Amino acid sequence: MKFYFPDSQDLVSPTYDFVNDEYSPYRVRQRDDVYAHQAVTPIPYDGILVSKAVVDGSMKGAGKYSTPQRERLYRLGVRNFFRLPKTCSTIGDCGAFNYIDEERPPYEVDEVIDFYGRCGFDAGISIDHIIFGYIPQESDTEPEPAWLERQQISLELAENFLAATKKNDARFEPVGAAQGWGPDSYAHSVAQLQKMGYRRIALGGMVPLKSHEILACLRAIDEVRNHDTELHLLGINRVDSMEQFARHGVTSFDSTSVFRQAFMDDRNNYHTATSAYTAIRVPQVDGNPALKRLILSGSVSQAEAITAERACLRALREFDREETSLEDVLTALQAYESLVLGPKKKSYLELYERTLSDAPWRACPCALCEKHGIEIAIFRGSERNKRRGFHNLTVLEAKMRSLTFG
Ligand SMILES: [Zn+2]
Repeated sequence: MKFYFPDSQDLVSPTYDFVNDEYSPYRVRQRDDVYAHQAVTPIPYDGILVSKAVVDGSMKGAGKYSTPQRERLYRLGVRNFFRLPKTCSTIGDCGAFNYIDEERPPYEVDEVIDFYGRCGFDAGISIDHIIFGYIPQESDTEPEPAWLERQQISLELAENFLAATKKNDARFEPVGAAQGWGPDSYAHSVAQLQKMGYRRIALGGMVPLKSHEILACLRAIDEVRNHDTELHLLGINRVDSMEQFARHGVTSFDSTSVFRQAFMDDRNNYHTATSAYTAIRVPQVDGNPALKRLILSGSVSQAEAITAERACLRALREFDREETSLEDVLTALQAYESLVLGPKKKSYLELYERTLSDAPWRACPCALCEKHGIEIAIFRGSERNKRRGFHNLTVLEAKMRSLTFG
C-alpha cells in the first residue's frame, strides 16, 4: 500500500529561531527550506502527488507556486525540484477540486500531457470532473443529469488522454480517473476504463463518503475488476479501513488530512499512535487578525497582550525543562486566552491540561519532536504548525507500517 502526499509547497526553514520567532538573515527560501521528506526519517510517504491546478493556479485564485517556482519545476523536473530520493515516486493530477464549480474541466488533454511529460512524473491521472453526490445501492433515487454528464465527460477525456499518451510516446504511466455516484456507477466507470486499456485507475469524488460507502463501491467494482487492475483512492486516508480496502484492489491513496489537522482541526492537532492532542494556542500578537482587531478597537491593550503572550511562551518552555508547575503554565495560558478569545468563546484550558500532563512530544521518536520539544505542540505560526503536520505524517507512516496487507 503506497501513500502519496499531495504537494501544496509546504516547507519549513531548518534555521528558524523559535526563541525570537525570526528567520535567519542568511536564509534563502528556495535553497534552504525543506520538505517533509527532508525533515524527518523514515520518509513519511512513498511519493508525492502534484496537481496542475496547484502549480498553475485556477479560477479560484492564484496557485501555490510563484512564477519563478513554476518555471523551476518545469526546468528541473519534479524529482529534482522536490529533491526527492529514488525511493519516492511521483504522480500528477489536474486537481479537480479546484474546478468543481465549472461546467467542464478547464484543461485540454494535450496541455495536461505536456505538464506531466515536461515535469517527468512517473504517473499521470486523466482529466476528471468530480460528481458531488452519493446514492446507495438499494435506493431508487435517480442521479441528476449533471452527474451523468460529468461521468461521461470524465470517460471521454480518459479515452482521449490514453490515446494521446500513446501517440506522444509519453514516458509516464497513464492512470484513468473513475467518477461515480454509487457502487454501480463507479463499477461502470472502472469497466469502461479497463476496456480502454487502463491498468491503474484512480477513484475520485469519494472524499465525502463514509468508509462503508467506499467499501460498497469497492465491492461493486470487484465484479468487473481485472485481476491486474490497481486502484488508487484520491484524497482518502482511512487507516482503520486500509487493510479492507487493500483486499479490493486498492494499492495506493493520497491525503493531506493528518498534515492539515495539525493547524486546521479544532482539537486533534498533535497525533500519536493511539490518540490525538490539542496544540496549545499562543497566537502572535502581531500575526493574529482577531487579536489585531481587538487591539485596534481599543478593547485590548497591545502592551498587555504582548506581556501575556511572552509569559505563556516562557512558562511553556520552563515547564518543558521541569522548572515550573503545570498550574503556573495554565494560569499564564488562561490570562492570554481570555484576551484573545473574549469571555464568550469556549476555553481550551482543559484540553491543554491533558496535552501538558501527557507531554507526548517527549516520547516521540521523530527528529522534529526530539529537536524542538514543546515548541512543536504550540499552535503558532507556520514554522511550528507545519512541523507538527510533518510529525503527524510520521505517525501515519508508522501506523501504515503496522498494518498487514494481502
Ligand atoms: Zn514527533
